[in-house]
Amino acid sequence: MRKIFPLSSHLPAALLDSLAGLPGYHRDTFERVHAAAEKITSLRLNPNKVTTPERTAAVLQALSPNGATAVPWSSTGYYLPERPSFTFDPYFHAGAYYVQEASSMFLEQAVRATVDLTQPLKVLDLCAAPGGKSTLLQSLISRESLLVANEVIKPRAALLADNIIKWGAANVVVSNNDPRDFSRLPGYFDLVVVDAPCSGSGLFRRDPELVEEWSPENVTLCSQRQQRIMADVLPSVKEGGVVIYSTCSFSAEEDEQILDWLADHFELESIPVPLEASWNIVTTVTGKRNCTGYRFYPDQLKGEGFFIAAFRKRSGEAPRKPKQHKSMVLSPKQQQVVSPWLNMPADYQYFLHQEEVLLLPPLLAAEIPLLQQQLYIRKAGVKAGHPGAKELIPDHQLAASTLISDEIPAVALDLKQALQYLRKEDPGISTRVRGWSLVTYGGMNLGWAKFLPNRMNNYYPKELRILKEITGL
Ligand code: SAM
Repeated sequence: MRKIFPLSSHLPAALLDSLAGLPGYHRDTFERVHAAAEKITSLRLNPNKVTTPERTAAVLQALSPNGATAVPWSSTGYYLPERPSFTFDPYFHAGAYYVQEASSMFLEQAVRATVDLTQPLKVLDLCAAPGGKSTLLQSLISRESLLVANEVIKPRAALLADNIIKWGAANVVVSNNDPRDFSRLPGYFDLVVVDAPCSGSGLFRRDPELVEEWSPENVTLCSQRQQRIMADVLPSVKEGGVVIYSTCSFSAEEDEQILDWLADHFELESIPVPLEASWNIVTTVTGKRNCTGYRFYPDQLKGEGFFIAAFRKRSGEAPRKPKQHKSMVLSPKQQQVVSPWLNMPADYQYFLHQEEVLLLPPLLAAEIPLLQQQLYIRKAGVKAGHPGAKELIPDHQLAASTLISDEIPAVALDLKQALQYLRKEDPGISTRVRGWSLVTYGGMNLGWAKFLPNRMNNYYPKELRILKEITGL
């Protein structure tokens, strides 16, 4: 392998040389911004949970008393002037926001420009863990739409499922499949997002240790893998459907050259995304096939390196008719045990799966037999809990969801109590509430507790608890 000598910015010379001539690339400012190593912190609020201007102000104020500024291409994204401790922010655990790199939030613009978000859509996020793009997609699509968030690597799929649970929406399926498995769903999706695994040069400023893993050979391997992934997933896009491709690499082999390869091999038409000049995002048009992509350079905007492009599929297979499966629908009597826990009980279908009640919105309920047949599903809809003889034993997913009834008792905690609860300790709350209750912080649900005359049983999931010691309170 070729030896790479670090420059003052510690960037590989072979990378810098390979970028020469690419649209928007200026070697001197590019190197300088990497050498300066500024850390940028940004997050995206959860519009299903942070529903009022007052709550937005409360969440941002708790994170950043010195003010937060909007990410210009995002309707819910903010920059924070300093990086707070997210672990010790109960709003983080309540799913009020997702900490996401700002450039990636541009996916919102690509989606708004290419699909009709008022329609019920079937959306696939193929390379989804840990869930940045999936939580963004979920915030954009309608309640009647369905998002399949997929991750091929098993432990990463578990992390993805945790983040989706925290986000709280019912219209998401988390799957753990290889891209090639999606060819079993021909013409199925209206929108497929491929945030491809890549050589990662776009993240070198944020994570300088990634530089050690970079090599020209790895760029070539990544580009071959990107082609394989795209070829595998494209049959699942319906005719007229949209494909969005993105990487966090600056290399043309993984960006423009992939667009040309796609246009060469598939019936795809490049779709431009409108930009505002003040965003300083660089438009790139491929020499061979005239495809349009967008480059994000950290020396020109407040975000890390990113690349994104959108295509419409000109032709595709008609979706196959799914085989009907007999599902375990809950009896009306069992439903009566669950429905008082929900805000809009009639909006969901109730299924019994491994002795737990699952709540699925109508499109997901209709599609789940087919998805179950073709994919390995880790999570679908919202798990309401275990239907006991007299009462439901509620699941954490229900507490984290946006489905829960306002009538359910809730006990409000202060910051110290909330952190003790999240550490799975007993915060020593005195309350007249008895039985199952939500515990909340700033009006947002953290999880379940059961209040007995002399103590509180803490039902926060053990695997999610804060392990760090609380200091300074
Ligand atoms: N979209 C994610 C987000 O916004 O949080 C980040 C995705 S990351 C850029 C790429 C993902 O692709 C990783 O989770 C990685 O595990 C997955 N991946 C790795 N190899 C893959 C392959 N051969 N096919 C599909 N996905 C793969």
